[in-house]
Amino acid sequence: MNNKPQINDYLRTTDFPTIWCPGCGHGIILKATLRAIAELEIDKDDVIAVSGIGCSARTPAYADFNSIQTTHGRALAFATGIKLQRPDKYVILFLGDGDCTAIGGNHLIHAARRNIDLTVILMNNMIYGMTGGQVSPTTPIDMYSSTTPFGNIEPPFKICDLAIAAGATYVAKSTVYHVNDLKTAIAQGIVHKGFSVIECLDVCPTGYGRKNKFRETKDMYDRLRDSSVPVKKAKSLDEAALKGKNVIGILKNVDAPEYVEQMLAMTEAAKKKTAKDYNLLNVAPKNGDSSVDLKIRLSGSGGQGLILAGIMLGEAAIMAGKNAVHSQSYGVEARGGASRSEVIVSDNEIDFPEVATPDVLLVLTQQSCNKFVPTVKDGGIVIVDSTLVAQVPATTAKVYRIPITRIAVEEFESEIVANVIALGALAKITGIAPIAMFESVVTSRVPENTRTKNISALHRGYECVE
Ligand code: SF4
Ligand code: MG
Repeated sequence: MNNKPQINDYLRTTDFPTIWCPGCGHGIILKATLRAIAELEIDKDDVIAVSGIGCSARTPAYADFNSIQTTHGRALAFATGIKLQRPDKYVILFLGDGDCTAIGGNHLIHAARRNIDLTVILMNNMIYGMTGGQVSPTTPIDMYSSTTPFGNIEPPFKICDLAIAAGATYVAKSTVYHVNDLKTAIAQGIVHKGFSVIECLDVCPTGYGRKNKFRETKDMYDRLRDSSVPVKKAKSLDEAALKGKNVIGILKNVDAPEYVEQMLAMTEAAKKKTAKDYNLLNVAPKNGDSSVDLKIRLSGSGGQGLILAGIMLGEAAIMAGKNAVHSQSYGVEARGGASRSEVIVSDNEIDFPEVATPDVLLVLTQQSCNKFVPTVKDGGIVIVDSTLVAQVPATTAKVYRIPITRIAVEEFESEIVANVIALGALAKITGIAPIAMFESVVTSRVPENTRTKNISALHRGYECVE
């Protein structure tokens, strides 16, 4: 008895018959992929199939893998997240030429640049099929489409050249005529450790064939046969002989560091580093810290140093053994525009870095006060720079009014330390780490010649809070 998997073992027939038109090449690509997976004896539960939008995007519907259909052009972004979460799975993408090289073109080049272990099966039928036969980035010159009724004047992308130049480590090209070669190219791409692109020259009789006067579907397949040259043979041909030909075969297959492996190794290293490496002053961690789960927003204008203050707040929390994430946003102006720095500190894993409803809000301008005080959690905390903020909107939060900027100017002769005074106040109010850990972070972050002044400013802010 033959226990090897057969392609039928991988089919999902509940959605049969397929939506594909008679003669469409997509079914051939699906079958070639299933043959490759069967020969590799990969368990169907170990495959995650990802697609975008278009006729190609229906492919995973007919295979019994874990599968996800995503938004137009974004399949590679989804697949990147999936692979980072499940590096043990084979993540295979079925993408059309429009989906992958127009809407998703940037995702393609960046996935290639990263060398992430994904397999892209690029179903290139040189047209937008499902949406009505519009010209795509791979439609050849002079060919007709619903949007190029007088012929296409745009030179097409050479997908394999693009993938190679962007850094893909496995690149192959085949056609729906050369079914065995296609299967082999896909199989090698699946087992390759790194970013694999298999360009499958495909056939769309409905959107492309009819417009371009192919009398029969078979003529399109014959065209693929007659225009293809194996890569080995192509090496002996000159430019003139190769004009208009498709060079098929394995075009690139090299080893290079893979993105997810590097990311996981770096994450492990970072986990080991955190507390020790930030703790320049060798502050002993405090025992018995109470559980923390705080969302903190620092808001003001560009140039007030709130981004750095947020980073330092997060680093002190990490030093104290917490998890912390920081995110930031600011206006187009380097100085004077709105600026926002957000920190989440928690004893638990933090899934999402955005702060919608802060527990603690620091405001250093009237504008940010008006905008963000209403967002503070009921019973939260607002720290206001009373030098710059005259009015605080009605709130259930506890409000601390501290003349941060006036202290900076009058006592330190420099507005620049206002952010560190504010950090000192935040250290006291949040209690997320001992002040000595904040000292350590400030020491590592500010220029050496301003260290003493900044440490004094930190303590001054800490002492401001009653
Ligand atoms: Fe295939 Fe073209 Fe029909 Fe889409 S429109 S199913 S690509 S033949
Ligand atoms: Mg297409």
